[in-house]
Amino acid sequence: MTKALEFTIHDRLDGALGRTGTITTPHGDVQTPAFIPVGTSAAMKALTVDQLRDTGAQAMLVNAYHLYLRPGHGVIDGAGGVHDFMNWQGPTFSDSGGFQVMSLGVGFKKVVDMTGDKSTNVTRKKDKLAWIDDDGVRFKSHIDGSMHMFTPELSMQIQHGIGADITFAFDELTTLHHDYDYQIESLEKRTHPWAARSLAEHKRLNDERSHRPPQALFGVIQGADHEDLRRQSAKYLGEMNFDGYGLGGALRKDAIGDIVRWMCEELPEDKPRHMLGISEPNDIFACIENGADTFDCVSPARVARNGALYTKNGRINITRAEFARRYESFDVTCDCYTCKNYTASYLRHLFQSGEILGKTLATIHNERFIVRLVDNIRTSIADGTYYDFKKDFLNSYYSD
Ligand SMILES: [Zn+2]
Repeated sequence: MTKALEFTIHDRLDGALGRTGTITTPHGDVQTPAFIPVGTSAAMKALTVDQLRDTGAQAMLVNAYHLYLRPGHGVIDGAGGVHDFMNWQGPTFSDSGGFQVMSLGVGFKKVVDMTGDKSTNVTRKKDKLAWIDDDGVRFKSHIDGSMHMFTPELSMQIQHGIGADITFAFDELTTLHHDYDYQIESLEKRTHPWAARSLAEHKRLNDERSHRPPQALFGVIQGADHEDLRRQSAKYLGEMNFDGYGLGGALRKDAIGDIVRWMCEELPEDKPRHMLGISEPNDIFACIENGADTFDCVSPARVARNGALYTKNGRINITRAEFARRYESFDVTCDCYTCKNYTASYLRHLFQSGEILGKTLATIHNERFIVRLVDNIRTSIADGTYYDFKKDFLNSYYSD
């Protein structure tokens, strides 16, 4: 294969923008919609790549910021790229590092706050670890406090050193706490010019590094929860020659479906769209229905390591006393390795005793749960039962 990426649409959802398709990369195919597990530092925490593959995961996403700081993208490039470095031969995504460097600037809680509470304006916050100007972002390493600067060009050089099949343009991550004027300035002075700079550097690197499989680049749309800005950003970037698009930034939770729809109505239909950082089941349905094809999130694995497990009747915590003598799986309907082989009682015991195995078994289950949910959504779009499937699933999951 000489093209970095191909995308074929198979089925469309009646009365909405959802679709099924296939993304083809040099390291294999991804059937969409698909959930992409996150292995931040080129490792799925607590799992081997074989265990991850057995959950049905088709691809994984790694973080440019973390791999730049440790071990350094040169080390990964020397190994032949991230696929060989981490022994994962399937399709791989890398983010641009923008989320991590900017969340140091405004504070992680504000970046991820999606409640729409705009009482705090963060534009001129003082106690920060990152400084943004029109050239890029200076920031302090969370590891040793050393100073670094990310530009669109450096982000692309890092992502080409990593060698993931799908990369993302460097953008400015704004939050719901930034005011409207700041959102406009951010798009015009940074996110849009940075997209053009990312694209130019990406093309240069793909040509220069023709000994490596070609990589694809997705442009990232911002605009917070403003319809006019989301549409303008999608239209503007949609006319640039990206291989696909990232639906990024601040998404007010109660309007997530609308925000995704505004962007997808403006984007070229024949290119894949990736939603950054989504894994709550009702959000997954809203995003797919409105045109998102793939999404990633650290959450299923992160909560699993704390004993929080997804079931068809909602989230449970395995450490609760009620599981002490439950000599069957906590979710008898699940087909994962953990649920087929271990009882709730044993899993609770592992967590109570601080055994590492507990984190592994819990992560296997949660990753499988979300992967399977999205697989079922894909099947339901293909066979025309999506709306029934959605109603049944959400009624049961949010029954409390
Ligand atoms: Zn399971």
